[in-house]
Amino acid sequence: MTDPRRRIPRTDTLLAEPRLAKAAAELGPALVKAAVIAAQNRARAGEIAPEDVAEEAVAALPATASSLRPVLNATGVVVHTNLGRAPLSAAALDAVRAAGGSTDVEFDLGTGQRAGRGRGALAALAEAVPGAGAVHVVNNNAAALLLCALALAQGREIVVSRGELVEIGDGFRIPELLESAGARLREVGTTNRTTARDYAGAVGPETGFVLKVHPSNFRVSGFTAEAGLAELAELGVPVVADIGSGLLRPDPLLPDEPDATTALRAGASLVTASGDKLLGGPQAGLLLGEPGLVERLRRHPAARALRVGKLTLAALEATLRGPVPPVRAALDADPEALRERAERLAAELREAGADAVAVDARAAVGGGGAPGVELRSAAVSLPESYARRLRLGDPAVAGRVERGRCLLDLRTVAPADDRLLREAVARCTS
Ligand SMILES: *Cc1c(COP(=O)(O)O)cnc(C)c1O
Repeated sequence: MTDPRRRIPRTDTLLAEPRLAKAAAELGPALVKAAVIAAQNRARAGEIAPEDVAEEAVAALPATASSLRPVLNATGVVVHTNLGRAPLSAAALDAVRAAGGSTDVEFDLGTGQRAGRGRGALAALAEAVPGAGAVHVVNNNAAALLLCALALAQGREIVVSRGELVEIGDGFRIPELLESAGARLREVGTTNRTTARDYAGAVGPETGFVLKVHPSNFRVSGFTAEAGLAELAELGVPVVADIGSGLLRPDPLLPDEPDATTALRAGASLVTASGDKLLGGPQAGLLLGEPGLVERLRRHPAARALRVGKLTLAALEATLRGPVPPVRAALDADPEALRERAERLAAELREAGADAVAVDARAAVGGGGAPGVELRSAAVSLPESYARRLRLGDPAVAGRVERGRCLLDLRTVAPADDRLLREAVARCTS
């Protein structure tokens, strides 16, 4: 008897197979070759028949040439840092696709001359916050703070409250970020109480600026005091307000979240914020404030190292001018409507044989924003064993495990994705 392994098709024969040849043109030969070799190895190990190698390789091809895979966020955490924070709106995704090729990011098609980089996105940001004299955009909020420290406080002091020496996450701390720019921190007040007099006592000729950091991922309660921006604005030095989440205007749903318009009106010289938290856009650092200061930031040599790419500019402009982004839609979703969706999905899944029930749930803003704010929500509750299978599915689904059940929280799932979610769960039911 001949060894069945001798019937395993050769690599070049497989690469010439029409579907695999087409995939090689679309995804690149390396990925297709890897899928082919993996399938041949499975046949050699006796896991699949030699006749099935081509089919297996086609089935194992990735959908794109990037290893990043789409994930349905059913965690109930609206801005989930590990899932890439804000998902972009369809309009922003279209804008990214359009800008992905050659684009007029720094070119005036009318005159054929060089033009201001990202002027559309900057104009949209300026229009969204009329109180800002000027605006600038960098890689993220950390970059915005770094640029402030470099341009306004290198070799000088940044006056900051001991209650606002915040660790952002993954071991990164704002005070260390600022010191890495060559600024000295002048800490004032205590963990729970810092007054305007504390700042006044520290401000002097060495001061580069006073920094107010919104403690976005924790809450200090009880015997507390902090100085308002209006009081700090009277100290005669620039006041930089890191508001964190990127709300441009007050949000009645999140009354304790600071916003750029209010901070500027209160007297902040500069506001820094993230683009991919509550604003619902791409990763970016927004800088808004006094034209003279923004110009100093823009012209600092390091600004070039912190600038954003055309894809970010495209997505940011489309987020600012376009339809309601997914983050906003998730925050605004009506709990009753979420409950109805959960009931419907659970009923359909029971028909498909799953042990699924609709339950009330508590969602969170996340992304280091609005700590302590709970959003009424609804979820489909499944046995815990679904969690892993759903994560490994295609599309991957991330739920959360609570008291031995896998919850799929619908606040963070767009209604248009209910069908995808149902099909993903049904595939894990057998
Ligand atoms: C999230 C956050 C940051 C960091 O923002 P990135 O855009 O992730 O760099 C800084 N400060 C505050 C107050 C934040 O909430």
